[in-house]
Parts: sequence; C-alpha cells; structure tokens
Amino acid sequence: MDLTDIRTIREIERKFDFGFSKGLGQNFLLDSAVLDEIAEAAQITDGVLEIGPGFGVLTHRLSQSAQKVVSVEIDSRLIPVLNFTLADCDNVKIIEGDILKMDVRELIEREFGGKEISIAANLPYYITTPIITSLIEAKLPVRNIVVMVQKEVAERIASKPASKDYGAITVLCNYYTNPRIVCTVPADSFYPAPKVDSAVLCMEVLDKPSVFVNDEKMFFKVVKSAFLHRRKTLVNCLASDFGIEKNALASMLESLGIDALVRGERLGLSEFAKISDKLGDMR
Ligand code: SAM
Repeated sequence: MDLTDIRTIREIERKFDFGFSKGLGQNFLLDSAVLDEIAEAAQITDGVLEIGPGFGVLTHRLSQSAQKVVSVEIDSRLIPVLNFTLADCDNVKIIEGDILKMDVRELIEREFGGKEISIAANLPYYITTPIITSLIEAKLPVRNIVVMVQKEVAERIASKPASKDYGAITVLCNYYTNPRIVCTVPADSFYPAPKVDSAVLCMEVLDKPSVFVNDEKMFFKVVKSAFLHRRKTLVNCLASDFGIEKNALASMLESLGIDALVRGERLGLSEFAKISDKLGDMR
C-alpha cells in the first residue's frame, strides 16, 4: 500500500469515514523522498519512538530501518486505520495516548529496555514547542531527535545569536543538542496542505551539554528572563527578575567583558553560562 499516493489516502478516508482534524494538526506527508531523509537523519540503530503516526506513512518507512517502532497516537479514530495500513509491519506497536501526558522515560524503558533510541515525528504544529522542550529537558536515552516542524520554528532553533530568529528555545536546543535543518518541505507535500511550509530538523543529542554551568536551573532562568523582555537591556531584565541592584549587575557584566547595555538576544551560550554562574555567586 503506497501511503504517499493521494488516491490511497482518499480510499482510506472513504473506507474509514475519516475526517481530518485541524485541531490535532493532521496534515499527512505525501513525499517519499522526505520520508527517506527523516529515516536517514534519525540514524536508526535499534528502536524508534514516533509521535503521531497519522495513517502510518512515516511509521511504515521507519519500520524498514528499525528493529522496533513504537508510535504514540492521540486520535482513537486512527487506531483501526493503523491496524489496517500497518498490517504487514510486525515490528510496529501503536499506543493510543497523548505524548504530553505520558512518562516518556518510563515508556522507553518498558518498550526498548532502556536502550538508546531515536525519536522521529512529523509533529502537529499546535504543540511543537512543548513537545520539543519536554523531550529535550527529560534527558532521555535518545541519540537523535528528528522532527518535521513549521519552517520558522526550525529556523529559530537552528539560528545563531543576534539573528532575528534567536530565542530561548534556540538556547535550550543548542545546550543539549546539535541542531541542523535537514531539508525544507513545501506545504503542498502534505494532505490536506497546511498554510505554511515545513522543515525537517535533526537534533543530535550531545553526550554532555555544550557549555558547563554550575546550576542549570539558574542558567535557564537567566535565558528566560533575557528573552521574555527582548526590548530591554539584560541589566534591566535581570534587575527586575532577580531583584538585584542595576549597578551591581552592570559591574558584574563588565567584569566578564560584556557590555552593560547589551540585550540578551546578542549573547551566545557561553556568555549566558558565565552570567548565570556569576549571578549564582552574587545571591
Ligand atoms: N506521521 C503522519 C504523517 O507524517 O503523515 C501524521 C503527522 S500529523 C502532522 C500529526 C499527528 O500527530 C496526527 O496523527 C495527530 O493526530 C497526532 N497528534 C496530535 N497531537 C498529539 C499528541 N498530543 N500526542 C500524540 N499524537 C498526537
């Protein structure tokens, strides 16, 4: 069964009387070359966790490279569809549920015996950031996270300091992973076509974070503060969020060789790390 063929998709739609849910971000991929790109970027050795299998087009491709694929789908209407479309894939397990409400660490332990796995997904747009954030922060036994996301989100995550796209999620992803855009995917590669283009983002999880910090909580608090009020100088952001006097903050920044009038969006990860360590000493 060719799930990249629109005629097959329409047949399944009819057979199961299926209506696509906009609210669940149901835009199904029709491009087999992109499926290959995702599977290759995931560097599958053993197991893969997929989020949101839809009709199973990516699941089917992943099952050809993996020993075991576990796919979590929130929409109960898709379970009989997946049993039909993936009938010949005996290494696929479908779990009905909301990925954001699951203990993913426990799921990986249970399904893959704690082995290092890859995660692959064509993510629903409405929850891209919470899913990526929770997967990264959970420090899972995962080597590669490969996700299709809105093109702007991929660009934001893969962006450099001081660029217009740079944000708190850029720092978070670059702290734990090495992100890169694998390819861009036009809206008409999906059915139904979304309003925006997409991109495949590969995040290779690092053995240890890209910079050393004394206190990760403090580090992320500083980053959040800096990006929450983008128009303010860093001193003003930190003064209001940390309750420290502005002059003391300005001299702390100067002692690190950082301009006291700088805005957070111009700072790289190592500068954020130095600032958070110094702030820890000041409190
Ligand atoms: N993988 C398929 C493909 O590439 O064609 C479908 C991708 S579609 C963009 C997103 C899928 O995620 C849908 O099947 C949707 O029902 C599912 N989904 C949405 N929210 C979810 C959640 N919180 N947990 C698990 N699956 C979810």
